[in-house]
Amino acid sequence: MTYHIQLTTRDGQPLEFDCSPEQSLIDAALAAHISLPAQCCQGSCGACYASVTAGDYLLGEHNPAALPAGNANGILMCRTTPCSDLSIALPYDHAKILFHTVPQRLAQIVALESVAENTVRLALRLDSDADNGGAAEFEPGQFMELEIPGSTERRAYSLANTGNWDGLLEFFIRLQPQGRFSAFLRERAQPGMKLMTRGALGAFGIAEGSLRPRWFVAGGTGLAPMLAMLRRMAEYREMQAARLFFGVNRESELFALAELERLKAELPQLVVEICVWQPQGEWPGFVGTPAEALHQALAEASVQPDIYLCGPPRLIEAAEKAAAAWGIPPDQVFSERFLPG
Ligand SMILES: Cc1cc2nc3c(=O)[nH]c(=O)nc-3n(C[C@H](O)[C@H](O)[C@H](O)COP(=O)(O)OP(=O)(O)OC[C@H]3O[C@@H](n4cnc5c(N)ncnc54)[C@H](O)[C@@H]3O)c2cc1C
Repeated sequence: MTYHIQLTTRDGQPLEFDCSPEQSLIDAALAAHISLPAQCCQGSCGACYASVTAGDYLLGEHNPAALPAGNANGILMCRTTPCSDLSIALPYDHAKILFHTVPQRLAQIVALESVAENTVRLALRLDSDADNGGAAEFEPGQFMELEIPGSTERRAYSLANTGNWDGLLEFFIRLQPQGRFSAFLRERAQPGMKLMTRGALGAFGIAEGSLRPRWFVAGGTGLAPMLAMLRRMAEYREMQAARLFFGVNRESELFALAELERLKAELPQLVVEICVWQPQGEWPGFVGTPAEALHQALAEASVQPDIYLCGPPRLIEAAEKAAAAWGIPPDQVFSERFLPG
C-alpha cells in the first residue's frame, strides 16, 4: 500500500510522489529522484522542516529544537511517515530541490586561520571535474557537508562566500570542545590537504520575490550565510533596505568586522548592529543578544521586514518569539539552526 504525497513549493510549484506507511517522506522522495533539502536525516538538524496542510501522519522521535515554535503542523520530513494521502507546503522555492544526485567533490584547503576566540576561517578550492569544471555553484544561504578525512563522518557548514568560477568555498567554524570535525581542524588540518565535500545543500536563502526590507539576525558563526546573502546583494547592487544584527557572547568572539565595513560601503542602505551579550570591557554597541536587539528594533519599525535567522537554536527561538510578538507573519521568518547533526 502507498499514499499519495503532494508537495507545493513556496513559489507555488507542485511535486508528487508515492510513499508507503513504513517509509520516511525524505526517502520516498529520493526514491522518486526528488532530493529535498535535508541534512542529518535523524530528526536532529531541522533542515527538512515543512508543514502538513492536509492528511494524517506520524512524526517519529526528533529534537524539538529542530522545529520552529508555534506551527502545530510542522514536521521533519526525515522522521515523518504517512497515515493517509498528504498535502505538504515546503518553506522554500522549487530551485532548492535537486533532481540529480548531490555532487561530491574533492577540495583542497587553501587557508585555515583563527579569526576569533574558538573560531576559524576555512577556505577550500574545489578540484575540477567533468560536470562543473572548476566552478563552485551554489546559492547564498546554502551549506556544504565536509567529510572528516580518514572517516565517513560529515558535518554541515554554511557557505560565507558566493558562487564563483574559481571553485572557492569559505566557511566560519566555531570549534566545539569535544567535536570531531573541530579536533580535525585544531590538530591535523593544514593548507594543501584534501577533503571530500558534498553539496551544495539546503533551502535557507533570500526570498527573492519579496520587496520588503531584509533583516538578518546572526549568532556567532551564524554570520556565515548572512555574509553570503549580503555579498550577493552587493554583487547585484540590490538597494533593498537591509539591517544586520550580529551577536556574540564576548568581544573576543567577534570576527569579519572589516568585511562588514566593506559591505556597508558597498551597500549604503545597510545598517549593522553589533551585539555583545556579556562585554568584558566598555562596549560601545548594543549590550544584549541579537534577539533582544531585534525586539527593540521591531518596536520602532514602521514596516514589517522579512527576517532571516541563523545560529544556535536558543537564539533562533528567542528571535522567532520577538518576531511573533510584533506580528510578523511566520512566512516572513526564515531560519537555519546550527544543530549538531
Ligand atoms: C545546516 C547546518 C549548517 C551549519 N553551519 C555551521 C557553520 O557555518 N559554522 C559552524 O560553526 N557550525 C555550523 N553548523 C554546526 C556544525 O555542523 C557542527 O555541528 C559543529 O561544527 C560541531 O561539529 P564537530 O564535529 O566539531 O562536533 P561533534 O563531534 O558533532 O559534537 C561534539 C559535541 O559537541 C556538541 N555540539 C556539536 N555542535 C554543537 C553546537 N553547534 N552547539 C552546541 N553543542 C554542539 C555535540 O552535541 C557533542 O556533544 C551547522 C549545522 C547545520 C545543521
